[in-house]
Amino acid sequence: MMRFTRPAFGRIVPVILGATAAFWLGAGGRASSAQAPTPTPATQTPSAPAAPARQGQPAARGPAVDQGAVRDANGAIIGYTKLAEIPGTQWRIHDASRPHPHVITPGATVGAPPSDAIILFDGKDLSRWAHSQNGQLTDAPWPVHDGYFETGAGSGSIVTREKFGDVQLHVEFATPSPGRGFSQDRGNSGVIFMGRYEVQVLDSYENVTYADGQAAAIYGEYPPLVNAARKPGEWQTYDIVFEAPKFNGTMVTSPAYVTVFWNGVLVQNRRPVMGPTSATMTVHQYTPHEAELPLTLQDHAHPVRYRNIWIRRLAGIDLPEQK
Ligand code: MG
Repeated sequence: MMRFTRPAFGRIVPVILGATAAFWLGAGGRASSAQAPTPTPATQTPSAPAAPARQGQPAARGPAVDQGAVRDANGAIIGYTKLAEIPGTQWRIHDASRPHPHVITPGATVGAPPSDAIILFDGKDLSRWAHSQNGQLTDAPWPVHDGYFETGAGSGSIVTREKFGDVQLHVEFATPSPGRGFSQDRGNSGVIFMGRYEVQVLDSYENVTYADGQAAAIYGEYPPLVNAARKPGEWQTYDIVFEAPKFNGTMVTSPAYVTVFWNGVLVQNRRPVMGPTSATMTVHQYTPHEAELPLTLQDHAHPVRYRNIWIRRLAGIDLPEQK
């Protein structure tokens, strides 16, 4: 029964709280936007500091308390200097001195690279990619056509010349049409972060394989939440957030985390990766490695096509202001 009563309770509670808040406001009391009103008016002292009642607005009622409001040329409040501290940071709430996120220009269409993206393939050449063998990098041998390239069909995987840690990656791919083969032997490739952690690329349109090896699976670990496959030959997208694992000596202090949108659909929601994904006879287990490593596109001897590949480093918040 609880399963049915809880949603109703959840709807009723805000109504009760809202009505109570309206009562106190009507009676001259003060109500914070973020807190339920205090049950007895006697506990509310006139000198209690007023919290900003609405986003960007000073408290409408109560005695004037110096919150250290900072205003712009238009008189609009753009921060404060005397509100409460945010634990674990050097900032106060709404801190006027906290650096602002850098301004970038989003792509005009979904999938188009924003201004701070590193373009890994723009439809013309594979100069940002290489073939790696015994630590030696040579030019990527995969054939480039008009606006896309194809996996090398046996010539070996390719890696980015640049190394990456935490990133957002956009990649578009199309599996061979007409589809040929079955299970893993059908439009197989892969997006492999740091040469170890694979998000599977496969023709998963009406093609059954093991769940943790289908398209958008974190290989050998997590099937995608849904199968959002398009037909063979149709362009598909992955938008992936990859957080690199962190090590302290031989200790894993944080696993890798992978989030995947497949054709715009969330299919991996910040999954903690268990370790390098290629092992099948042993448990996936981390071995410490560098903080940044190349991104790999897997050659599985199927001519999978790729286009419009871009990547963004995730540098975090509170960076120095842009010049
Ligand atoms: Mg693969």
